[in-house]
Amino acid sequence: MFRELFLNLCLLISLHYLLRFTFRAWPISTRGPHHTLRLAAFAASAVILMLFPAQVAPGVIVDLRAVPIAFVTLQFGLLAGLLVELPLLLYRAWIGGIGLYVALPSILGVVLTAALVRRYVPPVGPLFWRHWPNVILIFLFNGVPLLFLPDGVRLFLEVYPLLLVMNVAGALIGWGILSEWFTLLRLTGQWRAAAFTDPLTGLANRRQFDLDLTDLGPGDALLMLDVDHFKRVNDTFGHHVGDEILQELGRLLEQERRGRDRAYRYGGEEFALILREVQPGQLLRVAERLRVGVERRPMGSARLAVTVSVGGTWWTAATAAHLVACADRALYLAKGNGRNQVCEWAPDLSTIESASESWLPGPTSTTDG
Ligand code: GH3
Ligand code: MG
Ligand code: MG
Repeated sequence: MFRELFLNLCLLISLHYLLRFTFRAWPISTRGPHHTLRLAAFAASAVILMLFPAQVAPGVIVDLRAVPIAFVTLQFGLLAGLLVELPLLLYRAWIGGIGLYVALPSILGVVLTAALVRRYVPPVGPLFWRHWPNVILIFLFNGVPLLFLPDGVRLFLEVYPLLLVMNVAGALIGWGILSEWFTLLRLTGQWRAAAFTDPLTGLANRRQFDLDLTDLGPGDALLMLDVDHFKRVNDTFGHHVGDEILQELGRLLEQERRGRDRAYRYGGEEFALILREVQPGQLLRVAERLRVGVERRPMGSARLAVTVSVGGTWWTAATAAHLVACADRALYLAKGNGRNQVCEWAPDLSTIESASESWLPGPTSTTDG
């Protein structure tokens, strides 16, 4: 029996190694078809474990099927645990034998205990190891119903201690594999967020902006915003007030943007807004709404009046660098025209080649603030 259970333990470890790939991000999302597939994978693992059991008496088999079921219950709750347990029970009923009367209460006992434990400890996460006593608790009832079989006491004494040890070892190793994976996902997520977020404003940063620029298409547009005379604010009120204003501008852009549009801190006191599927003629209107929004909002603890100049341009089949250059030219023009205004630059495709070298064609339309 030891040999068979040990092989079952090895199978359990291999299965958990594969099951970790059903988790792709931390925190775990429990919505959508991906989650359903994940639960199906756990249910399948339990059934696979049952295909290679240890036969302990005629019609009585033991294996580590309870481990993936307990994990699902601990992680996703009682309902998920019961759901994942169903295929396993159906298969066990199909095999038949007297052991069915042990299997049914045993697995229900594990699920209910795991659901109870879940109320007092957090689900298996990156820091799951210190909850090891609960793992013992979860599997404590598993196999106890062996006592009610004919010659049950002898069978119980023979099987139960080893089954408990194997279940606990399997859970600690298998869930340990998942826990390590969650740690990796959590850290990767944190580092990714840090790499693509501006720490001061919380907006996406220049790195994210450069990535998103390559993903634009017809109807998309770009706005570049630059705070007017920001150096004066810093010089007069101090950098901390300047920082507050940048943060408030970040919040304003976040509030004002629509669904798929995205705001970025381009650098320093410059911001960018990528607009998706803009109706013709709406670019200047959006830019103007932002400009007025900034003008009307007293900023920072000093409640300062701040203005921005805005340059905008439409996406064309040219390079991302050309798009930014066009928006930048519009912004430059808005500054040149006296600041606190918006300006649109219609990209002229005939000038793409020389776009990076010179300030080519003039704006097709501008508007005063
Ligand atoms: P203009 O209207 O021509 O844009 O004038 P400006 O003063 O806004 O432009 P300039 O480029 O001369 O100055 C930008 C200033 O932005 C200088 C720099 O100290 C400030 N700045 C850039 N990044 C930060 C930041 O993170 N925090 C603060 N407080 N200031 C910043
Ligand atoms: Mg600037
Ligand atoms: Mg400026």
